[in-house]
Amino acid sequence: MDFLYRSTRNENETATASEAILKGLAENGGLFVPDEIPALDISFDKLAEMDYKGVAYEVMSRMLTDFTEDELNYCIDGAYDDKFDTEKIVPVKYHHGAFILELFHGKTIAFKDMALSILPYLLTTAAKKNHIKKEIVILTATSGDTGKAALAGFSDVPGTRIAVFYPKDGVSPVQEKQMVTEKGKNTFVAGIKGNFDDAQTGVKKMFSDKKLAELLDEKGFQFSSANSINIGRLVPQMVYYVYAYTRLVASGQIKAGDEINVVVPTGNFGNILAAYYASLMGLPVRKFICASNDNKVLYDFFTTGTYDKNRDFILTTSPSMDILISSNLERLIYRIAGNDAEKNSELMNSLNKDGKYEITDEMKKNLYSFYGNFATTDEVAETIRKVYGEDGYVLDTHTAVAVNVYDKYKEETGDETPTIIASTASPYKFTRSVMTAIDPSLESKSDFELIDELEKISCVKIPKAVEEIRTAPVVHDTVCDKTEMEKVVKNFLGI
Ligand SMILES: *Cc1c(COP(=O)(O)O)cnc(C)c1O
Repeated sequence: MDFLYRSTRNENETATASEAILKGLAENGGLFVPDEIPALDISFDKLAEMDYKGVAYEVMSRMLTDFTEDELNYCIDGAYDDKFDTEKIVPVKYHHGAFILELFHGKTIAFKDMALSILPYLLTTAAKKNHIKKEIVILTATSGDTGKAALAGFSDVPGTRIAVFYPKDGVSPVQEKQMVTEKGKNTFVAGIKGNFDDAQTGVKKMFSDKKLAELLDEKGFQFSSANSINIGRLVPQMVYYVYAYTRLVASGQIKAGDEINVVVPTGNFGNILAAYYASLMGLPVRKFICASNDNKVLYDFFTTGTYDKNRDFILTTSPSMDILISSNLERLIYRIAGNDAEKNSELMNSLNKDGKYEITDEMKKNLYSFYGNFATTDEVAETIRKVYGEDGYVLDTHTAVAVNVYDKYKEETGDETPTIIASTASPYKFTRSVMTAIDPSLESKSDFELIDELEKISCVKIPKAVEEIRTAPVVHDTVCDKTEMEKVVKNFLGI
């Protein structure tokens, strides 16, 4: 039987995996969640013998039950090929007492490539399966990395168009340059005068606008999402946790069945939720360590049980985590409420109305495997400098948040369980913050001088993604108010 996904806000709204991927978001702002996560009924020792694609098939086939074996393998083969600069796809390296899972070896050098390399394949396959003839319009809000990864994935993919909104003053220079130089004929990029939450709220509003949906339908379009609210993003992200674990088994660092901890630098709560879903499938995780930057709304939530976004939005050196409304937390809330759509809706309505909600004591108990903490901007710089000083390894600013929080966790708990830290971006994407953390006297250098400097000190070759933007012309120069998002989308589609 096809495994059903269900809306977090309406227990009667169900979808197959392919339908959920096509829709992106359920009605009334709900998110699709699996009714239950099937067990990964294959041994870790067996998985340890497989390559990335093999593990991807095993994990994803459990979750995307209405895709045939051929369909899924077609998607996996198309995604995890030489777009990645290493055959391992995600190398695991040991530094600073932890296993660093380098998720940034794809086309746009951020972990978003892990899912956005495959999402276009999943989506176009899902469209075919469901006999969708309309053109799919991917609407995306980005805090910096999703944008380019989605543009790269969907660039010139027949039957699709993609519009990306990013906070004009809230991304790094490399991130912005990557997006505005995108050449795909079916792409549109706009900076908005606002922050990431404004962009995400605007996109979600367009999704829920029935009148807009009718107009699109009439003109032969339909929306879908490349944000981690789409289950087609989360499922591919479960894979690398299982893959990393089995690499540690293969190299004898742990035995199959041993527990690990996972540390994830968190923004929209998608990456850490994927780790949690992997654990529900059978990955033995002891603690999910949720690392935040100065926008520490999740730390406060895990320590108090109250989620409260009523606070100043802080621009930090880890912009991809500058978020106050972590959309995917809703999936965890739904689960700890006992898959209760009514209770979840009540809390989300309160978030909408008052900007906050409080979970019950019962729900709080179900959070025992989560730990939250945060790193300030100064601590991030200090961590980059310290780890570089130890063995010459250069962390990006987001990964540094995770490393700093892991240090705090160990000091607080004394827990020595082998730990995987998700490294979500190449330091080349945040060169200015990274290089000035290591050597403040470099402040006056230009962005590309700093990039050359980073190559010298890290002995890691400048990635193609960075070389490409050195001379690339700007193609997209739209800047709009957050209230004009719908207008510019209509313009882009010519409707
Ligand atoms: C998107 C992103 C994050 C946050 O991931 P979520 O899934 O939104 O929690 C962290 N680091 C980097 C570099 C990112 O691009």
